[in-house]
Amino acid sequence: MKYDILLCDLDDTLFDFHKGEAIALENTFRRFGIPTTPENLSAYHTANTEQWKKLERGETISEKLRVDRFSGFLALAGLEGDAQALCDDYMEQLGQQCWPLPFSTELIRRVSEKMPVYLVTNGIARIQRDRLSRSEIKPYVTGLIISEEVGASKPNPKMIYEALAQAAADDLSRAVMLGDSLTSDIAAANNAGIDSILFTNGKEIPEGHKATYAVKTLEEALTLILAE
Ligand SMILES: [Mg+2]
Repeated sequence: MKYDILLCDLDDTLFDFHKGEAIALENTFRRFGIPTTPENLSAYHTANTEQWKKLERGETISEKLRVDRFSGFLALAGLEGDAQALCDDYMEQLGQQCWPLPFSTELIRRVSEKMPVYLVTNGIARIQRDRLSRSEIKPYVTGLIISEEVGASKPNPKMIYEALAQAAADDLSRAVMLGDSLTSDIAAANNAGIDSILFTNGKEIPEGHKATYAVKTLEEALTLILAE
């Protein structure tokens, strides 16, 4: 076979992140007596996006972002509340959300029969470990590389190097990265010098993408990963 190790993104490649995020947020709101109105949900998303932009500009850190997005939400929604308590409950709820995308379990099971599978994810360690432990793919996964633990996020190639080091893999040409994001997954693969497969989940394949391959379905990804 062409490859002997698969590196794979988690959110929106194997798990439906947005569905889990929406359910976790509604659960937290309900537990704190906050109405799940479109206005309140939109206030949270505005505050959350603002914090993630600050993080990209290096103006905050992820531990602070987690709480500040709820302080921002409370201010925007004109509500009184305890941002830290909301944050803690939401983290707990999010860790319980595991919504596999169609064919994702089958993909990981079948690839794992031929080569080790390492999940490479940007996220919070406790949440990602909780979610994987609840998931059907767990028995087929050899390793989980989480940005919070590595101290760098995709597209930083450190994430890829960490997975390859854990796998004791030294031939870069035998590794392939599968993911849905051009700016994190595909860029990380290119920065590390390994092949990549962009997964669009049914959407049109973007022109001028820099991935080695691009596919609309995980079935097509499986064929490429296991190709001779
Ligand atoms: Mg993703």
